[in-house]
Amino acid sequence: MKSVVGFPRIGPQRELKNYVEGYLEGKVKKEELEKAARDLRKYHWLLQKEYGIDLIPSNDFSFYDHFLDHAVMLGAVPAAYRILEDEIDCYLALAKGYQRDGIDLKALPMKKWFFTNYHYLVPTLTADTEFKLSSDKPFTEFKEAWHEGIKTKPVLLGALTFLKLARKTGVDIYNKHFWEKMLEVYIEILCHFNTAGADFVQIDEPVLVMDLEERDRRFLKEFYGALLKNKGKTRVILQTYFGDIRDVYQEIVSLDFDALGLDLVDGKLNLELISQYGFPEDKLLLAGIVNGRNVFRNNYQTSIDILQKLAHYVDKGRIVLSTSCSLLLVPYSLKYENELDEKVVPYLAFAEEKLQELSEIEEIFLSGDFSKHSFYLKNAELWNLVATDQSGEKEKEEENEYIRVPAWEERIKVQKEALQLPFLPTTTIGSFPQTPDVRAMRGRFKRGEVTKEEYESFIKAKIERVIKFQEEIGLDVLVHGEYERNDMVEFFGENLEGFVITKNGWVQSYGTRCVKPPIIFYDIKRKKKLTVDYIKYAQSLTSKPVKGILTGPVTILNWSFVREDMPPDRVAMQLAQVIKEEVLDLEKEGIKIIQIDEAALLEKLPLRKSEHKTYFDWAIKAFKAVCAGVKPQTQIHTHMCYSNFDDYLDEIARMDVDVITFEAAKSDFTLLDGIRESSLQAEVGPGIFDVHSPRIVPVEEMEKLITRMLEKIEKDRLWINPDCGLKTRKEEEVFPTLKNMVVAAREIRKKF
Ligand code: GLN
Ligand code: ZN
Repeated sequence: MKSVVGFPRIGPQRELKNYVEGYLEGKVKKEELEKAARDLRKYHWLLQKEYGIDLIPSNDFSFYDHFLDHAVMLGAVPAAYRILEDEIDCYLALAKGYQRDGIDLKALPMKKWFFTNYHYLVPTLTADTEFKLSSDKPFTEFKEAWHEGIKTKPVLLGALTFLKLARKTGVDIYNKHFWEKMLEVYIEILCHFNTAGADFVQIDEPVLVMDLEERDRRFLKEFYGALLKNKGKTRVILQTYFGDIRDVYQEIVSLDFDALGLDLVDGKLNLELISQYGFPEDKLLLAGIVNGRNVFRNNYQTSIDILQKLAHYVDKGRIVLSTSCSLLLVPYSLKYENELDEKVVPYLAFAEEKLQELSEIEEIFLSGDFSKHSFYLKNAELWNLVATDQSGEKEKEEENEYIRVPAWEERIKVQKEALQLPFLPTTTIGSFPQTPDVRAMRGRFKRGEVTKEEYESFIKAKIERVIKFQEEIGLDVLVHGEYERNDMVEFFGENLEGFVITKNGWVQSYGTRCVKPPIIFYDIKRKKKLTVDYIKYAQSLTSKPVKGILTGPVTILNWSFVREDMPPDRVAMQLAQVIKEEVLDLEKEGIKIIQIDEAALLEKLPLRKSEHKTYFDWAIKAFKAVCAGVKPQTQIHTHMCYSNFDDYLDEIARMDVDVITFEAAKSDFTLLDGIRESSLQAEVGPGIFDVHSPRIVPVEEMEKLITRMLEKIEKDRLWINPDCGLKTRKEEEVFPTLKNMVVAAREIRKKF
């Protein structure tokens, strides 16, 4: 048998995005939106059926986010939103906010889904949360598929994952009084599916792969002990993914689940758990061998090895082949990639191709002598061809080899001397609003409708304009605006050797926003300068320092798909080398301040604490390798998007940057307290306004904010800047706020 944990919902070519956005803009009618959703679901189910998938998921579809769907279904959303009677409008208000007809509802906050770039919406659980079955979405989808002759496996988010990932105010999620009502809702849902004739229901508990405590284990026993008494004839799958379940394996196998889904790609240890503790004879094992988080072909030899090992402990007949996690995290299908490097295509498998892999692996696994099977042979040949260049590699390089000299205290003095900035220097994070004309021009250039020269002079005109604006309002450290970049990672992917760029490789990042991660396939090299010309041009237009903006090695790595036979630490070092070359070129051209963005440094932090050190060791080493050779007077900045990195300040300190800007505008700068007490020496720009909000912030408000910051941090250590890039904003929204920001800084300076 073959199972799929979840399927991409956005459609083969991001169709859902256009429908939902169209609906929000009033251009698409509700009936059209609903019909489009039904058509997409049908298409997804039939496609999976075509590839012979036995356990096809339903309720994995979502207009915006499955976590939000679940919260809505449990009735766990604030009453205020119910003012919108229409179900979809109420739902989208929770997702996007709602400002119309005197109603003003804010969107729920978003958070990264485990270590992926998918964001889920975070509901808040309070003492007032009243759990009550409030949506029939899962049942409707089950019926819809049944109508097409497909009996799906409805997917539900598990109770512990939901409770742990939601925000809590004033409630103890482990208190039975709090969750009892929620249990009733789960029971009701299960009974419903039992009556509807569902053979399987899948309950997702990815949180089980994290470090767990005794109270988590107790919860699982109590909650699922009670729930599973009500399953009737429906068989319940406990699905885990993103790692191994070492902290709860024994508890889980002793519960009355009918099947257990384990990730054997990210959770290598799962195999050991099975060999150590055995696997119960009354359960199916869903063996997650096809990687749901990466775009490369499966190595059949590796998968067959795993399956054969499993077969020592579980009868072949009880092993169900599965994806390691939902395919939500990979692009839809390769069939739209007609411009990809032909040498690379055979190595790739997007969601649709992964369905085929499941079928092929099953056939090989069940055939007697697999080594003669044509699928096996073809796949083996593929992997024989691959060999990466490891010649330039120095295995034993330590972080300490990348020490910048002199030490920070010395450097910062030299830099202050060289830069002559006022105290409370004002700057921005790099990008300026990407106005429609910029996007249109880039599109025309890509389609070959304008020449390279025309495109470049267009970008230069944009740079001239933005330099002039920054000078006019009196910013101290200017930027060139990043107009040439579609995306801070894809741009580097497009211009470095070693990357493959897809045409349609969209992956949902949040709601209607999709990203197209570049694919790292070869060794990375820099054959040409990436950013120097535009930044140098910007600097030629002004006597103020222009800050050169680059994306750091760890962020490029984390926001790309990387070949599984390439160790991430080695790829990070290759990236570090090319970014370093760029840094040195910028320095040579007289750029005095260089910002190396590491927006995604914390995103791929391993889920288990015990693995953090190894990750930080190579990630920070790569970052330091970029900066180690620059002159003392060249000031190195970094920018990080997260505001909740309080726990990692000492690691961030190891990056040894001169200045760090980050996203703390929404947090009352509590991070500054932690910073003062940590080993971080760098100057800091906590971000004075939230770039995600279109609001124009008045001068007085910013003066107050600066005063507040100065209560927490020394005046010579503080920078004044927005909390992230301005790319997604409109000029009319941010230009006035930037102007006000500079005035506020000047007003405060006068007081000293
Ligand atoms: N330099 C980038 C910009 O300004 C940083 C973006 C980010 O942190 N996500 O857009
Ligand atoms: Zn940012």
